[in-house]
Amino acid sequence: MNPMVPFHSLLLLAALCLLLRTITATDGAGDLLYIDCVEQCEKTGCVGDRCFQHCKFSSDGTPIDGPWYMHEPLYLRWKQWDCRTDCRYHCMLSREEERAKHGAQPVKYHGKWSFKRVSGIQEPVAVALSALNLAIQFHGWVSFFILVYYNLPLRSDKKTYYEYTGLWHIYGILSMNSWFWSAVFHSRHVELTEKLDYSSAVALLGYTLIISILRAFNVKDEARRVMISAPLVAFVTTHIMYLNFYEFAYGWNMKVCVTMAVCQLLIWAIWAGVSDHPSRWKLFVAVVGEGVAMVLHTFDFPPYKGYVDAHALYHATTIPLAFLWWSFIRDDAEFRTSYHLNKVK
Ligand SMILES: [Zn+2]
Repeated sequence: MNPMVPFHSLLLLAALCLLLRTITATDGAGDLLYIDCVEQCEKTGCVGDRCFQHCKFSSDGTPIDGPWYMHEPLYLRWKQWDCRTDCRYHCMLSREEERAKHGAQPVKYHGKWSFKRVSGIQEPVAVALSALNLAIQFHGWVSFFILVYYNLPLRSDKKTYYEYTGLWHIYGILSMNSWFWSAVFHSRHVELTEKLDYSSAVALLGYTLIISILRAFNVKDEARRVMISAPLVAFVTTHIMYLNFYEFAYGWNMKVCVTMAVCQLLIWAIWAGVSDHPSRWKLFVAVVGEGVAMVLHTFDFPPYKGYVDAHALYHATTIPLAFLWWSFIRDDAEFRTSYHLNKVK
């Protein structure tokens, strides 16, 4: 079977979905009733009959009541900021309720769908799924560690026969780091958590591209590994610095991420197609699954019942894929080790 065919169609579908999305997207933050509601709320501290503690200061920033520490400028700014997010959240809910009564479709506010919070957590489903992904990555990494150091024979210098052990360790650490910040970001969207989530995702994506090249082309020599990965490491580092310290450009970041993801999916798929690896079917299923999940992600439908959106579903699909992926890595370690042992005999 030619692995290129489904990928062309997947790519085309993804491009079409993206195009459709940008054409149909309207932001509820521009809605006059919503703007009015937020303005009123920041003055009165109330939306309808719901009032918030966070808004207890007058419009010039001085607190209406409270002890001395409420007068601290930093604390006040924090309060003001909390007041704004509370107002935006409750105005968004009341606007969406109104709109639903008139049969209108849900819209995004400040680029994000209206999610229902659970004990202050903004996207509870995405947080739970990120935590599950983190657990699966941890399980995969530990089982790989036990396999290569305890269950498979070691060289006389106590190193593993498998040449990619170190690279997969770094992969395990980067992916756990990425899922940790994903859980934090989905609990609370603020500038810092968003930057940490995006930066760790970009770092992971860049690193997995490097590893796909090194593994698929069987690069074992240290000098050649450095030569191949150096330009990619430089690019990814520059991109992360650009996002954090110059401009947080969503569109540009999306292009970079999609390009890196498609490149590595193609590399793995072609390798699975041409190599005689005994577990290449796992690789193939994981790659096709990841491709399908990426396309699903671009549909970007509003959260069902206020909880499950396309992004949360995307985080659900990566759980079985991560399981399969670590299983492939363990198979690869066994495959390479037995190859070396047979060579010695
Ligand atoms: Zn996420």
